[in-house]
Amino acid sequence: MLLAFTWWSVLLFTKNRDAFYAKRDLLKIGLIAERLIESDHEFEHNINYQELHKEYKRQEWMIFGEAAVFVVTLIIGIWLINRGYNREMLSAQQRRNFLLSTTHELKSPLASIKLVLETFIKRKLKPEQTEKLTHAALQETERLNHLVNDLLLSAKLEVSYQPNVEELNLAHLVGELIERLKTKYPVVEFQFHQNGSIPNIQADKMGMTSVSLNLLENAVKYSSDQPKIEVNLGLKNNKIILNVADNGIGISDKEKKRIFEKFYRVGNEDTRTTKGTGLGLFIVQQIIKAHEGTILVEDNEVTGTRFKIELPIKGVGKK
Ligand code: ADP
Repeated sequence: MLLAFTWWSVLLFTKNRDAFYAKRDLLKIGLIAERLIESDHEFEHNINYQELHKEYKRQEWMIFGEAAVFVVTLIIGIWLINRGYNREMLSAQQRRNFLLSTTHELKSPLASIKLVLETFIKRKLKPEQTEKLTHAALQETERLNHLVNDLLLSAKLEVSYQPNVEELNLAHLVGELIERLKTKYPVVEFQFHQNGSIPNIQADKMGMTSVSLNLLENAVKYSSDQPKIEVNLGLKNNKIILNVADNGIGISDKEKKRIFEKFYRVGNEDTRTTKGTGLGLFIVQQIIKAHEGTILVEDNEVTGTRFKIELPIKGVGKK
């Protein structure tokens, strides 16, 4: 199309020039016949010729302007179509990833629970074996429950989430969650530092539990061989600052911009080995926003990732 436009412009330029030459020759013959001019020099200074030349130049600029507008419009059009196409491809990929990951996340606990129940039916087990299997099945139902809750919460967050605020001691909450995770992941080294006394805040306990758990579980999930997770809670400029840092695989700068999108997961679902649905960080960001706070992600020193949350203190309670 660009070639066609260029060709079209060249043709117009040539036609305009030819028309000018024809009019110029006609004018010259007329002026010579009327004995108004005697030389080419006089012709070039003749007012009629100058008018004709001015008109010719004006038309040349007009053609140039039209061609430029066409080309710019064409380039913008191509760019818009390309951008729309890329967006559509990305969202199709995301939908596919979501379907694959959610199906997998639903299927694997169901398969484990089914296996446990079939074992109970087929075999007579010792009490300690029964207890172990029951415990495993309960953990899987917990996983299912967690997934369904995340799906429901993410749908709610987009339309009608209102934080159910109460006075909350974030230091207690985070401390308790870390203790729970220490038991769940004995190989992971957790460190919790509280800088000074942290005032109570008005916040949704369930929401803040979800925020902290998602960040901590991610820090474990995307960790190195010797996971080390450092959590810092402090107060700065009348804001609560919560930092969750890990020494894991890290996140590239390009991906940092996208990880908070709903269903977004780094990499490809066909090759990925970690479990997840891409809902965790979306939920975290929406809950923090609903509390008028902010979350950002940066590289941790040496390796890994650091998530930094800032929460305003509203209606401060006791220390
Ligand atoms: P999920 O963990 O279910 O995939 P999330 O929304 O919690 O979904 O995270 C989105 C993506 O961000 C993850 O797929 C992962 O690639 C990346 N990510 C999140 N937390 C970390 C982390 N601590 N270290 C490295 N990558 C992370």
